[in-house]
Amino acid sequence: MQTEISTALLRDVRNRFSERQPKIVSLIRALVETESPSGDVVGSRAVVNLLADAAAGARGVTSIDRVDVPNFGQHLVIRAFQDRAGAGNILLVGHTDTVHPRGSVAERPWRLEANRIYGPGIFDMKANCALAVALLHAWDDFDLVPRCGITLALMCDEEVGSLSGWPVLKEIARTDNVQRALILEPPAPGGQAKTGRKGTGIFQMHVEGRAAHAGLEPEKGASAILELAKQIVRLHEFNGSGSGIKVNVGVVQGGTRSNVVAAEASAELDVRFATAAQAKTIEERLLSIVSDDPRVKVRVSGSINRPPLERTEQVLELYGLARNIAGLLDFELGETQVGGASDGNFLASIGIPVLDGLGIDGDGAHADHEHIIVDDIPRRGALLAGLIASL
Ligand SMILES: [Zn+2]
Repeated sequence: MQTEISTALLRDVRNRFSERQPKIVSLIRALVETESPSGDVVGSRAVVNLLADAAAGARGVTSIDRVDVPNFGQHLVIRAFQDRAGAGNILLVGHTDTVHPRGSVAERPWRLEANRIYGPGIFDMKANCALAVALLHAWDDFDLVPRCGITLALMCDEEVGSLSGWPVLKEIARTDNVQRALILEPPAPGGQAKTGRKGTGIFQMHVEGRAAHAGLEPEKGASAILELAKQIVRLHEFNGSGSGIKVNVGVVQGGTRSNVVAAEASAELDVRFATAAQAKTIEERLLSIVSDDPRVKVRVSGSINRPPLERTEQVLELYGLARNIAGLLDFELGETQVGGASDGNFLASIGIPVLDGLGIDGDGAHADHEHIIVDDIPRRGALLAGLIASL
């Protein structure tokens, strides 16, 4: 695949983003100051209104749809250049929900300091929602149209697992004949794209042993706690094994009193993996655990809940293209693989080439020092426009 947009045009696009930057920043500010933690219906709808209003009137926009989600608010789906959708659509994905409860903005108000803007949810990812809308306007001033249609999907429940968002994205992938997905999640440190994300699974282990008096006749008991401890040690051996599988036993419970051999114990596990094969390995291993002691029963429940975003050839092809375009804009776009999952994981699992972590550079996702780097706005905008034009 060749980069077909010229360096001169790319730089013009970046300059246009620079001129529009005050407008983009004021939309970011309005979005940040309209708090929308996951599950806040009023906040979600208010943010969607701001974005829909800002997108209306862009040259290519053909439809703006709100998808109501009970107890959450609304997903926003904007389609553009649908006269080109015969060649399929490029799907841009973001989310409007944040992890910051209402009141966070009062505690940590919008603050511009030395090329950084701080604010709850700005980096993950209200700034990128605003950038996505600016991207829809990027074609207004140039004799440039994408070769495919564009579908922008901004979801309202990503931070809590996309229970309603994933079915909607899956349906869009089908109806819109999605060719590639660009995920506007925050980048890794230094602005790096994310070319891999681990998948996740959540499991519970429950051990049933046999109670007995610890002093009088301990031999008649079978300790559930001892069994659980042995299993935990075995599971944690995955972590240093080079298998790529990570297991964390994050919660344990068990027993009744110190002088009783414990009849029951349980644990909650988080597992992470980089490939579908690893997911299968760990799931099979967990679900087949038995005790060496026939008096003890081990039961494991749970499942894989997000598939991995694997660093496939398709992903690398998209990344290579993005890196070339960044080079034309005089910056180095790095890549990395990370542990946390996003909606990109789901889209990759149905075979769509995905490039993730394409949002504006910054730091502090989900933390008090969450911020974006202001100077990154125009070049990110130009990078994304150039990438879409090249697909
Ligand atoms: Zn996010």
